[in-house]
Amino acid sequence: NKITIAIDGFSSTGKSTVAKQLAKYLSYIYVDTGAMYRAVTFYAMENGLISATDFNSEALIYQLPNIKINFKFNEALGFAEVYLNNVNIEKQIRTLEVSSFVSKVASISEVRRKLVEQQQEMGKDKGVVMDGRDIGTVVFPDAELKLFMTASAETRAERRYQELIERGDQVEYKDVLKNVQERDYIDSNREDSPLVKADDAIEIDNSHMTLEEQFNKIFQLAKM
Ligand code: C5P
Repeated sequence: NKITIAIDGFSSTGKSTVAKQLAKYLSYIYVDTGAMYRAVTFYAMENGLISATDFNSEALIYQLPNIKINFKFNEALGFAEVYLNNVNIEKQIRTLEVSSFVSKVASISEVRRKLVEQQQEMGKDKGVVMDGRDIGTVVFPDAELKLFMTASAETRAERRYQELIERGDQVEYKDVLKNVQERDYIDSNREDSPLVKADDAIEIDNSHMTLEEQFNKIFQLAKM
């Protein structure tokens, strides 16, 4: 019997690592909803709708029907990559620049409505692991298993910093920490679907857990 697994939490808490592992282990589909908000943000940047000094949210809302997002499984990577209007943008959406705009874009109700609808469609047959900020509260409030991941801001910024450095991005730890804290703040305080732990979600603080300890704990929960 396939179930729906919702994984929510703050930025860079290792949600996608856990979600990918669970999906592989259970032969489920994995959906990275953050990648969808990042794809809309990337579209806005490419089309001159958002910059450090200005954000034309009206134009973005108007152009939403032109934005087509989908995922294609990459055998070599073992997970699905995100496509914007049929172009693979998996790498471009992970930059600190996209991260610095994404929470603003994600606070627009029209953007959320469009993406939530698509997410519900993708998960309608169960057998899905979805990670994000509102999966257990809004997208799939009836999910059979809900996890809420947390870790200290410093632990999370350090992990994100290492990832960016490994990609070859030139960033400073203090800017990554600032971004993580800003996104936490915007995500937790927006009017539409703010980031909160669902009442029935199991909280996992992985600040001091090794990856192995975390997997063991989560596989245990998934088997119950
Ligand atoms: O998960 P990730 O860090 O890639 O998400 C990027 C941003 O997208 C988050 O900081 C949040 O603003 C937004 N997001 C959201 N709802 C989701 C997933 C992501 O608002 N379900």
